[in-house]
Amino acid sequence: MSQLIGVQVERLYEMLPPKGMTMKPRPIRLCGACYAEAPCHRIEWQFKEKMKCDRHQFGLLTKCTNCETPFSIPSDWVKGECPHCSLPFAKMAKRQKIY
Ligand SMILES: [Zn+2]
Ligand SMILES: [Zn+2]
Repeated sequence: MSQLIGVQVERLYEMLPPKGMTMKPRPIRLCGACYAEAPCHRIEWQFKEKMKCDRHQFGLLTKCTNCETPFSIPSDWVKGECPHCSLPFAKMAKRQKIY
């Protein structure tokens, strides 16, 4: 049993680049200001301990600032906007709180 757990932990570490960081698949987090500069999801937003963007000092968003629809998985981000109200992710930066 302990052997089995050991293997799983090792595998887990392989998937996590920075040591000691744990990933949280949900909720999907987003920094609108980063997205405005480079329209792609950043994996570091999903680190469990991370609640703000280090580059902008903004609290990360987990849902649309307009209609409060939670973000869908990044592979579904076709246009980079809220699928419900079409607010672009980049514009959500205006509503992000400074930490
Ligand atoms: Zn940012
Ligand atoms: Zn929306």
